[in-house]
Order: sequence, then C-alpha cells, then structure tokens
Amino acid sequence: MTTSEALLKLEQLSRVFTVRRGLATSRFVAVDDVTLAIAADRPEILAVVGESGSGKTTLARMILGQVVPSAGHLHFKGRDMTRLSARERRIWFMKEVQPIFQDPFAAFSPLKKIESYLYETALNFGTATRATVDAHIDQALHTVGLSLKEIKGRYPNELSGGQMQRTAIARALTTNPSLLVADEPVSMLDASLRMAIVNSFRDLKQQQGVSVIYITHDLATAYYAADRIAVMLRGWVVELGPAEQVLGNPLHPYTQILKSSVPEPDPRMRWTEKVALARQELDEFSATGCKFATRCPFAMDVCSRVAPTNLVPDGRMVKCHLYDPAIPAAQKHRAGGAIPLTPVASTKAS
Ligand code: SF4
Repeated sequence: MTTSEALLKLEQLSRVFTVRRGLATSRFVAVDDVTLAIAADRPEILAVVGESGSGKTTLARMILGQVVPSAGHLHFKGRDMTRLSARERRIWFMKEVQPIFQDPFAAFSPLKKIESYLYETALNFGTATRATVDAHIDQALHTVGLSLKEIKGRYPNELSGGQMQRTAIARALTTNPSLLVADEPVSMLDASLRMAIVNSFRDLKQQQGVSVIYITHDLATAYYAADRIAVMLRGWVVELGPAEQVLGNPLHPYTQILKSSVPEPDPRMRWTEKVALARQELDEFSATGCKFATRCPFAMDVCSRVAPTNLVPDGRMVKCHLYDPAIPAAQKHRAGGAIPLTPVASTKAS
C-alpha cells in the first residue's frame, strides 16, 4: 500500500525511553520497528492486543501525536505527521483523528453539563454552525444509541459508565473524523456494555466509513469486532492479520499463550514478585534475540541470539524463527515447535 493509498501508515516506527535502574540508566524500546497500514478506501477496525507493558498505549499515543517517535515514519492521509505545524495539528489532524479513553468520566468535569462538551467540540472544529449544531450533535448521539434529549441538562454523575463512554464516542464523532483511536475503551465497563460499545464501532465503520484502532487486552471483543488483529509483545508486533486467522489459528507462540490465558499480573502479588516481574519486563524489552525467548516453549538456540524478522507464511505477518524457511526443520522439531500451517475456516460473525 503506497503512502497516498493509506489512511494511516506506520513504517518502522519506534519509541525509546530511558529508565533508571539504581545508579545506572538504561534505555528500552517501548515500540520497536512497527510497520502497519490502514487503507484509505477500506475502513476497518484494527484491534491491537497484548498484555500490560506490551507497548500498545505508547503506539496509540504516537498515532495521536502525543508522543514523538524516536525513529521511523508516520503518515496520515499522505502527510508526514512529524512535519505538521502546530496549527495543522490542532485544526486539521485533531479533527480527523479523535481519541477515546479508558475512563470516560476523566474527560468530563463533574460541574459541567455534558452537552456543553459536544457543542464546544462541534463549533470549535467548524463541523456545525449555531443553526445546525443541535441536529449535528443529535445525529452523533443517535449513532451510539443516545439522543440530545436524553443527555441535555444532565451532569456526568447522572449517567452510567456505558452512557458516558457512548457520549465520549459521540463527542469524538462531532468532528466528522476518519479515524478513532480507542485505548481500552471498554475495560471499565460490564460485559453487556462492552458489546454495546464495540457494536457502535462496527456501525461506525459500516455506516459512516470511520476506521477504528481498538487497543485492548480483551481478546473476546477484539475477535468479535475487529477485521484485523495486531498482537504486541514488548514493543514488537509479533503477529498481524485477519482476526479469524490470528485468534482462530494463531501461529506465533505468544499469541497461542495469550489466547489460552491472558498473562496479566495477579493484583495480590507480593512486592518482591512485582519487582521480579518488572525486571523480567525490562530484560525482555532489551533482549538481543527474540523478546519471548525466556518464556517460549519452542525456543531454539538461535532465538536468544538473533531477533526474528517479519515473515509472511500464509498471508499474515509473523515475527518468529519457527516460520523462517532458512532454519532447518530438524531444529524446529527438536524444539517441538514445527507448527503446521492449517487452513482456517472462518467462524467469525460478519
Ligand atoms: Fe519462540 Fe523463537 Fe519464535 Fe521467539 S523466535 S517466539 S523464542 S520460537
């Protein structure tokens, strides 16, 4: 996909942070060499999944222009994001690309009526005039199953979490965006409300041609809602492809483990265990070879020495030596990891 054909194009995008470890400082690559694109003429929901500390949020923040990339390229509608002026970023880019955050209450003052945020956003971005703003807002609210009548005159504490998140999405829609970047938008909601939110993403894509980058650790809603899934591990995208391939028949050992049990830290963990986990996280971020080598059940000698490249064994991208034809099959068998590529029957609802 060329830059001009892409709505969003990330090429070898990286972000490096430095962290203090005792007296020494070390650098870790929070997002490492990520390449992906969303086509301009084919709206889609791209889910970015992974455990805590995988780099999902840093990736989202770079796309939103809140974190500056350390290396690589980021183009939106053919424009190099790093070359936008502050005015272009404020007027053009923020109208086109809208964020949806985890906690909808954090974005709204408890002392301000909710509708005032929608009015301000639509008028400030020039997507409605004083004469048309009521109809414009009402339409945005209808897209997420609400109406202006329902929210008018009400304060945030008078709405449920689900209503607030839908209002936050409606507010984003008042700018007529091409792309929503939603960072864990359903993690604070009940299971029933989660489906309502992800369904509104599907409606937006189908009815208004809005693409959505859906950052989540909830594999069930990712599988249900997304057209494609990118699996992140310590800053790498280790598997990227159609949702039914990536979660229906995962190729990367990390995706397989993620699918069988999401390895989230136990909140009852003792602090010594938390420190050990943080060390492991930093070690994995700065590994010379594969970042999953110390945990991978199929690791081979080469894995701890050489970082895998992006391979395309069956149409999807996988970053794993198991799919490298240059590595002898006997070596893969010894590791127990010669995973057969089997055709995948689509079981996903359209
Ligand atoms: Fe496992 Fe090696 Fe593949 Fe990494 S490259 S996921 S360690 S088999």
